[in-house]
Amino acid sequence: MKYTPLANYINGSPCASEGETIEVTSPVNGDLLSTVPLSSPVDLDSAVAAAEAAFPLWSSLTLRQRCDIFYRYRQLLQDNMEDLACVCHEENGKTLDESRAEFLKAIELTELACSLPNIVSGEVLEVSPGFDCSIRQFPLGVVSCITPFNFPIMVPHWTIPMALASGNTMVFKPSEQVPISGNRIAELLSEAGLPDGVFNVVHGDKSIVEAICDHPDIEAVTFVGSTPVAKAVYARATSTFKRALAMGGAKNHLIVMPDADVEHTASNVAASACGCAGQRCMAAATMVAVGEVDHIVDEVVAQSQALVPGENLGAVISAAAKTRIEQYITEAESQGATVLLDGRGVTVSGCEEGTYVGPTVLDNVTPDMNIASAEVFGPVLSIIRTSDLSEALELENASPYGNAAVVYTQDGQTARDVTDRASAGMIGVNVGVPVPREPFGFGGWNDSRFGVGDITGRGSIQFWTQSKKITSHWCD
Ligand code: NAD
Repeated sequence: MKYTPLANYINGSPCASEGETIEVTSPVNGDLLSTVPLSSPVDLDSAVAAAEAAFPLWSSLTLRQRCDIFYRYRQLLQDNMEDLACVCHEENGKTLDESRAEFLKAIELTELACSLPNIVSGEVLEVSPGFDCSIRQFPLGVVSCITPFNFPIMVPHWTIPMALASGNTMVFKPSEQVPISGNRIAELLSEAGLPDGVFNVVHGDKSIVEAICDHPDIEAVTFVGSTPVAKAVYARATSTFKRALAMGGAKNHLIVMPDADVEHTASNVAASACGCAGQRCMAAATMVAVGEVDHIVDEVVAQSQALVPGENLGAVISAAAKTRIEQYITEAESQGATVLLDGRGVTVSGCEEGTYVGPTVLDNVTPDMNIASAEVFGPVLSIIRTSDLSEALELENASPYGNAAVVYTQDGQTARDVTDRASAGMIGVNVGVPVPREPFGFGGWNDSRFGVGDITGRGSIQFWTQSKKITSHWCD
């Protein structure tokens, strides 16, 4: 086993759990990396108690004092990037470059939290002669964040720096498939000077997530993961009157117009579909080919062919994921889709136990096929043909999800039409993965998000705080 068995991280130290443990294996080559506990509600109680005990002092610090710690933490992320990117690569399977890119985004998110003092300076107005109204933000208390396997570093940073810098204390539940990064984050926060108990990690699966939703002393929950679980978590957490925001799955449509730049569009679509082995909620799932675009389809296939598993294309998370993805391809083929590029049955020499799927392009997919609506979450691009833009937008609008929608065109009016009419929270114009940079917030629509607001950006400050409105009158 490459790393020591993982424990929870409570009150500034590793803390053993009574729960059973499961193995953490690497999708890269099947190596055993560590074991992770499936914690019990008793473990959660300890973490919440530590977070509650830490809250009075932490929340009484000034915002600038709290942000000082995040300036140091930002530097530690930078200093430890190579080491932690390697852990991320090993436990998630994405390439080292993709792991480094996660770090850069985590650093950007930490910088946004560091800039909080400049963003939330208060407002004051004399509302009647001698009467002043002002507004201040206060933290909520103990909060929790639950994350998926696909971004072990970046997604936790969507919430950790902002929630903590705002004065909350936290219980973090990482994905049990990629738990090692979670403990490293905790260690770096401690090294940066975060007081014990402000940030705690409790490992586990469904049952610990349910315990978090039910816990009476947790005030707010963010969740990122698949839509069925996001729905269940949102419903359960709000049923105990918590503030909740749950981000779900996605099925993103990339509309390709005949006037699109061939080279740019093809490389961009291929990178969107296959980057992080297609395991991104912002990945291209469906290319909607409008009119005569065969020349672009040919180039998409050529660009996708340049992605080589084990080199510039990482592994998918598990053997179960590989099987599921390959089954989707087989089913689509049997229903009449044309397999232009087939990623089934791939093995990587020297990593025979790794779980790789090669780049796959399916043409002539029709809306009634399962693959047209299911979230495949692998390096698989489905091409659906339409005759005009309206038909393409109807298709996009019919999807229950709503994370991203993209148009490739050189015509401003067409771009404007898609921006106006697509039913998605993040729109790309000639950009295949339109993740907004900070301080613009990340957040989809429809079944890709349950709750109000974005999970990052300026808007997230509202989620992590409550405001106090003060009306003052000093009598003479
Ligand atoms: P998942 O829903 O299986 O798991 C997410 C988290 O929920 C994990 O921590 C897991 O332990 C826990 N969990 C799993 N099953 C549960 C259950 N039945 N009840 C309660 N908790 C449960 O998701 P995943 O496979 O880890 O991640 C991939 C999914 O996440 C994809 O659907 C992807 O689109 C989505 N995702 C969405 C966004 C977004 O912002 N919309 C971002 C990243 C990933």
